[in-house]
Amino acid sequence: MNESPVYYFDNNATTRIAPEVVETMLPFLKEYWGNPSSAYTFGHQVAKHIEEARAKVAALINSDPRELVFTSCGTESNNSAIHSALITHPEKRHVLTTAVEHSANIKFCDFLQKHGHDVTFLPVESDGSLDLHLLEQSIRPDTAIVSVMWANNETGVIFPIEEIAAICRSKGTLFHTDAVQMPGKVEIDVKELGADFLSLSAHKLHAPKGIGLLYVKRRTKYHPYIMGGGQERGRRGGTENVANIAAFGRAAELALESPGDEKTRIRALRDKLEGGILSKIPGASRNGAKEPRLPNTSNIAFDSVEAEGILMLLDQADICVSSGSACTTGSLDPSHVLMAMGSSVARARSSVRFSLGRYNTETEVDYVLKHLPGVIARLRTNAPFKEGKQARPVTQDA
Ligand code: PLP
Repeated sequence: MNESPVYYFDNNATTRIAPEVVETMLPFLKEYWGNPSSAYTFGHQVAKHIEEARAKVAALINSDPRELVFTSCGTESNNSAIHSALITHPEKRHVLTTAVEHSANIKFCDFLQKHGHDVTFLPVESDGSLDLHLLEQSIRPDTAIVSVMWANNETGVIFPIEEIAAICRSKGTLFHTDAVQMPGKVEIDVKELGADFLSLSAHKLHAPKGIGLLYVKRRTKYHPYIMGGGQERGRRGGTENVANIAAFGRAAELALESPGDEKTRIRALRDKLEGGILSKIPGASRNGAKEPRLPNTSNIAFDSVEAEGILMLLDQADICVSSGSACTTGSLDPSHVLMAMGSSVARARSSVRFSLGRYNTETEVDYVLKHLPGVIARLRTNAPFKEGKQARPVTQDA
């Protein structure tokens, strides 16, 4: 295991597990390992902790605990919401989504299209925003569900989800939002929001990977995606990942307890980093609208440099960031998000995402600002970027 410290600026990909969360998990790995569905007390005890965790996560988003279904990840939650809408409304064959969703949505919609469904991928403006008039016009009588992410994982651009939910309600269409990038950064209140489905993933909130959540608004028809035992009140088969569920509950509790000025602190650090980069480095510019945007995210294009090179040289200085380019490991494609915003291939391939979190400090921001100008200058001198040059495999989108 490499124990050297890292300067971690990739919190939209995943977050460090909070030490308090690790502590919460341990008893479920060591002592309370019974099956929560078992009839004896040893099992019941475990089931009780699942319900405690559910109540804590419900408090984070102001829902009723009975509206929450634990899943294995954000991807499963997204797939489940769309799947349920199509199964419970078999007469409706159309799904409306956007061109900038996470692959957890796009790939599922591609699959649906190949298997006879109709999918519309709404375009976005150059600043990453959505045309709500176009969205409204694109809802058809046979639209089973509208699925629009709340905040974009690459640019941090926030969509006006309350307005979109209201449009869907007025059209009598189900609405799902992928809110995976929201918790801990912006408050979520599902009662105000009015969405029918909402996805979360615990590993973006200082809990482990492998646990997600689907909020299903009361009285919304739901059909499980994973069928098996009667777990999650018949809404998701499979023995519960108890340690991870407990971890999710504790992470939600910590996020709720975190003082309001913590979000302000992270925003100030992001603004210092972004301001420093834009003022110190010629040919650097932001991708996406300045506001409304996640307070922790900054996506910057560096003229005439490939992001791959930047990532490599920053890695040598123990700085973790990711390229704005997208999709799964090994892909040669530039970011589908930046391309949908009208970016050139060259710009998309020269973009880097910095995403901050709870454990970043001002000293770390200063460290990046000290190293980055030299990295860009070195790459510009040694390896001028050529439009159309074949990109190397890029990072995964997260
Ligand atoms: N949606 C968004 C916006 C994301 O950023 C991610 C993270 O990778 C996901 C969905 C998928 O979540 P998970 O990794 O839990 O499957």
